[in-house]
Amino acid sequence: MALRLYNTMSSRIEEFRPLRNNEVRMYACGPTVYDYGHIGNFRTFIAVDLLHRFLRQSGFKVHYVMNITDVDDRIIRNSARDGVSVQQFTAKYEKAFREDSAMLNIEPPKLVRATDNIQPMAEFVQKLMEKEIAYRTDDGSYYFRIAKFPAYGKLSKKDFSGMIDGARVDVDDYDKDSARDFALWKGPKPGEASWETAIGPGRPGWHLECSVMSMQELGESFDLHAGGEDLIFPHHENEIAQSESLTSKPFARFWFHARFLLVEGEKMSKRLGNFFTLRDLVLKGHRPSSIRYLLTSVPYRNQLNFTFDGLKQAAVSVERLRNFGLRLSTGSFPAGANPAMQSLATETIERMRVALDDDLNTAQAQGAIFEMVRQANAAFDTGSIKKDDVPPLLVALRKFDEIFAVLDDDDVPKMKQVLEWAPTEGREKEISNELREAVRSNQLTDADIESKIAAIKAARASRDFKASDALRAELADAGIIVEITKDGIRWRRK
Ligand code: AMP
Ligand code: ZN
Repeated sequence: MALRLYNTMSSRIEEFRPLRNNEVRMYACGPTVYDYGHIGNFRTFIAVDLLHRFLRQSGFKVHYVMNITDVDDRIIRNSARDGVSVQQFTAKYEKAFREDSAMLNIEPPKLVRATDNIQPMAEFVQKLMEKEIAYRTDDGSYYFRIAKFPAYGKLSKKDFSGMIDGARVDVDDYDKDSARDFALWKGPKPGEASWETAIGPGRPGWHLECSVMSMQELGESFDLHAGGEDLIFPHHENEIAQSESLTSKPFARFWFHARFLLVEGEKMSKRLGNFFTLRDLVLKGHRPSSIRYLLTSVPYRNQLNFTFDGLKQAAVSVERLRNFGLRLSTGSFPAGANPAMQSLATETIERMRVALDDDLNTAQAQGAIFEMVRQANAAFDTGSIKKDDVPPLLVALRKFDEIFAVLDDDDVPKMKQVLEWAPTEGREKEISNELREAVRSNQLTDADIESKIAAIKAARASRDFKASDALRAELADAGIIVEITKDGIRWRRK
């Protein structure tokens, strides 16, 4: 079996084979750093993170590049509103994006900034001018003449037969039934950021940024290009037009698009009050691991409806997996191996791989690990897990976590960062009691807890129950529940 992925270009599920043997070159459209990232953005970024992780787990060497759009219409508008330079404005949100990605255990791709690549963008426009695919207007802007690219529309499958040659659009994002010549480069305007280049002063259009940076980093033809489904038209269509008309080579082989996220059944919007940034949710006391888990629980091409009930459920799921891991790593087991547990572990690894090979069926992979946990917990209770069964079960858990990345017990330090950040933005009123409580009561690291558990064991061994009770009370105060069973001592966070 090999990975099969849906390709928006062919509208089919295809076997994924990279152009170069064992190397995958992939590009994802990154954030426009004009605000804090919302959970819809992270649904898409996590979907691509999952793909990245799974390709690596499958043995590929992956070059994964993402752009940071740090100049565009919205950035210019908002930085002017706040009375700060574009650079000051974007630096803040770029930093927030990096922090938020880390909070969600998104492995950083190679990040490239648009404003660090302005000259190659101008050169790209110049080459399109030489080929007479681009034209200049009186205000110093440059447009792409879509009539010169007959394949225009091949990704979005839109019918452009009513297209009017020469009709133009100069905003970056538009949703028109008929295509327009789009801006490659925007001439200077008073009060707007602009750069001096070989084609004159101005700034790049958004679509141009991605064509130039992806080909610069990955070559003229590469394996996969990703983004949210809203980018299919016009953004990706325009990227294809620019790139292929210049190189006469196919641009990206696979087009990977994540479906838009809904919140409580509706399209997320500030107006409906169902718009959440990652930080909004952490301020309410939700854990980053629950958010990541929920965002991966529905395969990337299916509609994910984000609800607060779902978020609570996700927290329970993560807890269950973590407790199972602890139970295995801290319990004591009789010598030997139980063949049923051995094959349970191997089959689970296989089932997860088959699920992810099938166009990243994350729901099915999660189902497989929970089935293993259910069966292994039952075996645990009847004493039929043996010492040699522990490593393979832990391997299955680790393989799961190489992709899903929710098992490390590191939520609290991350939540603490948000707690400390809120006052710097004048948002201390939004800090919930749940967040304060989570941070207050969970200051201990796993290692701190393990050493206290060892002390409890020692105290009990010498029948010093007073000391053992005192330690338990101390842990209970810090939100740690200690259970003493015939198998040994277990602990978990409240
Ligand atoms: P932006 O910062 O607006 O350029 O968007 C960054 C990424 O988030 C793009 O890949 C978008 O397609 C994606 N995105 C934006 N809104 C949503 C949403 N509601 N659900 C899923 N992905 C989204
Ligand atoms: Zn892009």
